[in-house]
Order: sequence, then C-alpha cells, then structure tokens
Amino acid sequence: MTVKTFTSWGNVIRKPQESAPLLNRHAGFPAAPALSSLLPYGNGRSYGDSCLNVGAGLIPTRGLDHFISLDVTSGQVTCEAGILFDDMFQVIVPAGWFVPVTPGTRFITLGGAIANDVHGKNHHAVGTIGRHIVRFELLRSDGRRLICSPTENADLFSATIGGLGLTGIITWAQLQLRPIAGPLMRVETLRFANLDEFLRLQAESDQEFEYTVAWVDCLGTGRQLGRGWFERANHSPVPAARPPERPKGLNVPFAPPFSLVNAASLRLFNTLYYHRPRTQRGDRPFESYFYPLDSIGNWNRLYGPRGLYQYQCVIPAAAAREGTAALLNTIARSGQGSFLAVLKGFGALESPGMLSFPREGLTLALDFPNRGQSLERLFAALDAIVRDSGGRLYPAKDGRMPPELFREGFPRWREFTQYIDPRCSSSFWRRVMDGA
Ligand SMILES: Cc1cc2nc3c(=O)[nH]c(=O)nc-3n(C[C@H](O)[C@H](O)[C@H](O)COP(=O)(O)OP(=O)(O)OC[C@H]3O[C@@H](n4cnc5c(N)ncnc54)[C@H](O)[C@@H]3O)c2cc1C
Repeated sequence: MTVKTFTSWGNVIRKPQESAPLLNRHAGFPAAPALSSLLPYGNGRSYGDSCLNVGAGLIPTRGLDHFISLDVTSGQVTCEAGILFDDMFQVIVPAGWFVPVTPGTRFITLGGAIANDVHGKNHHAVGTIGRHIVRFELLRSDGRRLICSPTENADLFSATIGGLGLTGIITWAQLQLRPIAGPLMRVETLRFANLDEFLRLQAESDQEFEYTVAWVDCLGTGRQLGRGWFERANHSPVPAARPPERPKGLNVPFAPPFSLVNAASLRLFNTLYYHRPRTQRGDRPFESYFYPLDSIGNWNRLYGPRGLYQYQCVIPAAAAREGTAALLNTIARSGQGSFLAVLKGFGALESPGMLSFPREGLTLALDFPNRGQSLERLFAALDAIVRDSGGRLYPAKDGRMPPELFREGFPRWREFTQYIDPRCSSSFWRRVMDGA
C-alpha cells in the first residue's frame, strides 16, 4: 500500500490517496482491510471524480499492460485491461486493424474505456465501445473471476459496461476490431453558419461518413448561434505502411498561476478559427485526426491551478434543436466557455450498459476554467435546460452534477446497485447517491 497524489484530467481534485496496484491479471483483489472501499484507476483521463475515491483507496491498473493475442483473420484482440489504446495501436494498426470506437485521446486504458462505455465520432454508425466487447474477466473482491459476455453472466456484463469501476476489476478484455486499409483518414471540413446548417450537414453526412463531429463557436449569438466547422471522415482506402506515430510535440510542463483561457483569448481564438480558409479535403494520419489535443502534452494545465470542468450533456432527439439552442444561448450570454466546444449527433444504436451515457440526440461538450461561483451559476442554468429536455450529463466528464440530475437521467441506477461489488465505491458514486 502506498500513498500518492492522484488526480483526474480536470485537475480540480488533487488529494493524496492510498493505493494498492494490481500488477498482473493473475493477482488477487487487493485486501487493504484498513480502507473503507477501493476503486480501479486506469489512466485518470476522466475529467471529474468518477475515477477517484477520496478518503478511501485506489487500485491502479496500469500494471495490467500485456497484449495477450490478436487473431489477424477475425480481428479479435485480447489484452490486459490496463493497456493504453496508444500501445494497442503499435500492434493492431500495422496488422490492418483499428479500434471500433475511440474517444478524443489515445491515452486511455481498455478497462477505463469499458467502465465508461466510451463513444467516438462514429457513434451514429457503430454505437459505443460496449457493443464491440466480446467478453472480459471480472475480478470480484470475494475472489471470484467471472467471464462476462452478452450470453455469459449477461447481467454483470451490462452492469460493468459503463459501470464506473464499481462492479469489480476488469482484468482482461476481448474486443472486436474493424479492418482498415492503412493509417490514413479521408477528411472533409466544412464551415456552417448556424445550428440549422449544422443539423442539415449532419443529416446529409450520417449515411456516407463513418465519423462526424463539429466544433462550435460558443460565443456566437443571434443568426450566428451554433456556427462552426463540420468535420466528416472515413478511413482512407490508401494503404500506407508505417508504424503509428507517438506525439513528440509541445508539452505544458507546469500549470501557470492563472488560467490562460479567458474571455479575451477565447474571443480571439474563436473568431480566427471560424474564419480560417473554407472547405478542406484530404488524407490525414489517424493520429492527428482523432487526437489533435494529444499533440500538446498536459494541455489541461493551461487552465491554471484551479483546473477545469467539462460539461457534456445529451439532449434527446425530440428536444435536440431547441435544447441545444438554449444551451448555446445561455453559454454565449455568460461569456464563459472555451475553445473546445464540440457538438455531435448520437445515433439510435442502443448501448449495452445499464448506466451508459449516449442516447439518440445531440451531445454538446465544453471545457470551462474553474471560476468558482460564477461557473456554478452557469452550470445550474444549463442543468435546468438539460432536465427540461429529458437529457443527462456524462459521468466520465462530471465533477459536480446534482444527485437528482444523475438519478433522473439514469433511471436504471437502482437496478445497477445490486451489482456493485461490496468493496467498491468512488467519490462520484457517494456524491450522486447522497440522499437516495
Ligand atoms: C482529451 C480527452 C478527450 C476525451 N474524449 C472522449 C470522447 O470523445 N468520448 C468519450 O466517451 N470519452 C472521452 N474522454 C473521456 C475518457 O475517454 C474516459 O474518461 C475514459 O474512460 C478514461 O479512461 P482511463 O483509462 O483514463 O480511466 P480512468 O479515468 O482512470 O477511469 C475511468 C473509470 O474506469 C474505471 N476503471 C478503470 N480501469 C478499470 C478496470 N480495469 N476495471 C474496472 N473499472 C476500471 C474507473 O474506476 C473509473 O470509474 C476524453 C477524455 C480526454 C482527456
């Protein structure tokens, strides 16, 4: 047992915590009797407190980093759960395979991806990663090792996908990959003038493009509300034999004493970015297409010592236009927000997880410098819109949602509680269960 400072990507909570790492997939569940509970910890790329367990203990899983097998014919890969996507790419991409779903950073573990049932720019085409998990092993604190799949221990399979690490430790997992001709992406970027143009582009692109996403200028109002850039892409048919590249660009070595993201820098960036040259088309390396932010190491430090919050919600299809317009209006009027405002349509494919976040509709994600009370007031206004629209917030990005918003948004939480491992808990879970 060691005491170390753990944090998440938002850098708001930095607390020393006890930890009992799991070093290989054959090791048992850590005993740690002095600790009230334990929580698996992947690579800490969740933004808020869902990967933290302040006052109790963490089980770091990065030691589970073995590649177990790859069937180059069927594209099924089996890895220990602490392996990073970035490490997986070194093997699978040269073999002509790619992960079926990826978030916007490759520095996440396979176990963390399953526990948050992550989604990518291709949600409308393939759903969440949970739909592509063939099976995994779940280590419970009573020592049982359960193989979980859609047909074996199916209830624990569904509870663990998007189960926020609360059902036990995933030690290894088998994933169905998708074939690729090479490491390039064929990408097209188009400027759009407002939210209605975005919706039109999305409807027109969803059939022919596996990946779609938009950057929105969160300061646009009136006729410019929801203006931005739409990006649509497919894997390029051009074969290019080269190993995946690791980022070797800039690194932010420490947090400056104040946030470099402020009203002036935001307005300047958004105006310049929106007015960059019109439509662009071409082949790009998958690394810069999927992971532009990974090229600036520790970019979260630009938000200063108080850190950042991300607000990611989904507004169901029936209320998507009005709800999203109301969110954007409220954000623009507040003058807060950041360069990173992302809008994406979620498709109708159901996620297998009881607590999976995506549902059909529009998802908006924005980073905000932690400005204390003024930000809390803005979040309360955004929460009201999300609630009125029947939407919900993404636990992986959250560090503050009110318990009622979680419980209304995730009605299967009660059913989920029966699958929680008696030794597992998290800061997030205690917060959202307050008063339940
Ligand atoms: C720049 C950036 C872009 C992002 N883009 C997206 C995106 O597009 N889509 C998206 O869905 N998410 C996105 N995310 C969020 C990120 O993908 C998720 O938070 C992911 O789950 C983090 O993985 P991790 O390995 O760092 O896990 P952690 O953050 O350490 O943990 C996440 C959860 O997994 C649990 N866990 C970890 N390992 C195990 C295990 N072995 N067994 C059981 N439970 C485990 C933890 O208890 C915790 O509840 C983004 C994050 C960043 C920083």
